[in-house]
Amino acid sequence: MTYYKSGSFNAICDVCGFKFKSNEIQKRWDGLMVCSKDFEHDHPQKYLRVHERSQGLPWSRPRPEDVFVVVCTAAGATAFADIATADCARADITFPSYNDLTSST
Ligand SMILES: [Zn+2]
Repeated sequence: MTYYKSGSFNAICDVCGFKFKSNEIQKRWDGLMVCSKDFEHDHPQKYLRVHERSQGLPWSRPRPEDVFVVVCTAAGATAFADIATADCARADITFPSYNDLTSST
């Protein structure tokens, strides 16, 4: 109904479309301006927040660079140039013998 009320004005409910006085209209949780019949509170469980347990590690660091350890084999430590391994070869080591190292049997 249209009538004059001091300090208020006519307003339309965003939901039902009926005309109300502005003091009968209130803002709903979704931002719509609605009458008292269409007013509802937001569902409280919408704002429940579960405290998730963190799955992350307490600390971490990047994988370190690979460290290569030089392993000298018996053959690699010999003095034979084509058999010995760099940083392993020793001139005084001649056992196993060259023939033992190169024979296929
Ligand atoms: Zn309404």
